[in-house]
Amino acid sequence: MDGIDGRVRNAVDLWLRWLPRWQIGTARPRTRICRKCTGSPIASAAGFGPDVPHPVQHALIGRMSTIIDDAVDDYTAKNLPLLHRELERADARKRHAGYQPAEGLSPEFQGLDVDPQPQDGAPFLFTLEGLAGTGASSDTAPREPLSDEAKAALRHEIELSDECARSTGTAVCLALIDHRARIAEAVERLVEPQIEALVSDMFRGLDGDGARGGLF
Ligand SMILES: [Zn+2]
Repeated sequence: MDGIDGRVRNAVDLWLRWLPRWQIGTARPRTRICRKCTGSPIASAAGFGPDVPHPVQHALIGRMSTIIDDAVDDYTAKNLPLLHRELERADARKRHAGYQPAEGLSPEFQGLDVDPQPQDGAPFLFTLEGLAGTGASSDTAPREPLSDEAKAALRHEIELSDECARSTGTAVCLALIDHRARIAEAVERLVEPQIEALVSDMFRGLDGDGARGGLF
């Protein structure tokens, strides 16, 4: 299995291969704050400035988060039997809960809203979010209550797993710093020209008859 450095390199490679397909202005601006990206140390490690569009950042941050999650899962499965069992149980509950629209998406879309932003006066007939959990069969076994000792042991395992997440997160960020130059080069080549074109389009709209646009 690859170490963290190899996994980070690989994920940056995949992101660089995805980036040429990204196009500005294909989605309405999101109105909700992204919990994955906002204030993420991964964004600073990648060297992303505030002007790099969110979907571009999200795609890389998502891949890095997956590396951290996988490492924590691995560590949990090997070393934290109580927590592992709780997580398996939660997974089983989720599987029983039926359709999950946010599951199985490619990394670029994980953690983003699954439905477009609603427009005034144009209600959706259905939303993917609304379908979540349909087809539920609620026949999961009731859990037995945990003793105080078991609770304390579980709490200790959760601390260990948090510690693993923190140290893996730090290792991922340190490894990512090595790729800053490649990331910056790709943003400059593939993202910035699109931002410039969009901005100059907006100004052309303002200088012209002023009837089109509606961006301001
Ligand atoms: Zn995000």
